[in-house]
Amino acid sequence: MHHAKHLLLGAVLSLLAACAGGGTTVRPDPSPPRAAAGAAGTHENLNAVLWMQTAAEYEATTRGVFAAASALLDAALADPRWDALPTAERGGQRVGHLPAAVIVDADETMVDNSAYQARLVEAGTRFAPDTWAAWVEERRAGAVPGALEFARAAAQRGIAVFYVTNRDAAGKPATVDNLRALGFPLSEPEDTVLTIDEAQGWGSAKGSRRQFVGERYRVLMMVGDNLGDFLDGYQAPVAERAALIEPYRSWWGSRWFMLPNPTYGSWESALTRGADDPVQAKRRALRSR
Ligand SMILES: [Mg+2]
Repeated sequence: MHHAKHLLLGAVLSLLAACAGGGTTVRPDPSPPRAAAGAAGTHENLNAVLWMQTAAEYEATTRGVFAAASALLDAALADPRWDALPTAERGGQRVGHLPAAVIVDADETMVDNSAYQARLVEAGTRFAPDTWAAWVEERRAGAVPGALEFARAAAQRGIAVFYVTNRDAAGKPATVDNLRALGFPLSEPEDTVLTIDEAQGWGSAKGSRRQFVGERYRVLMMVGDNLGDFLDGYQAPVAERAALIEPYRSWWGSRWFMLPNPTYGSWESALTRGADDPVQAKRRALRSR
């Protein structure tokens, strides 16, 4: 009897230990996205999320990018030929007479959703539309270091700031609330937050929204954390993505400004698209010699 009790206690303790370790124990969730959690209780995104949340190196990088962009605003404003829209999206349109704007992405460009990413790491899960929508509704994204200063520097010069985001139209009120609470300029009455599917033809590729802005504004700069924040065709395989940006090589750091996002993006889906096992697909892309 006593012995049996010990066995039972041992079994319970092992079960608890396995759960705490994020191991292979069956979870109550009927469809857990288990692939994100490794056998040792780690997660594909542990380092990446910690880097964005704790590394002085991350803050130094984003502040440096935004400071460089801010320092060029006056020169960009003064040069009537200075325009940051990709050639195919601008066409032959003259821009010198148009008022000035900058186009910025929202997530991991102006606002920091790393708390959401941290929750995924803690839970051993992956991104899912329902948990993301709930996070958006919380309105708790922070400002990326340096983003506010840049946006305000633009607004102070009369430059319109357009937030072109792949958050959806349903999450727009929460997104606007969140941006406003953080102090980002929203140039009302004009609607400067352009979400996905808000108008016909506004898909996840942002080109149609960039053109919507570009028809009425000279676009001085674009800021993002994803190739898709700058040009379409970004959902291509790795080598094609590199070729896509080749013609714009000299624009980085003057018309185009890229922020680091090691936690997710089209760089990652370029590796995992169509794969049964995304982790295996990523491991195959490693270069070890
Ligand atoms: Mg983004």
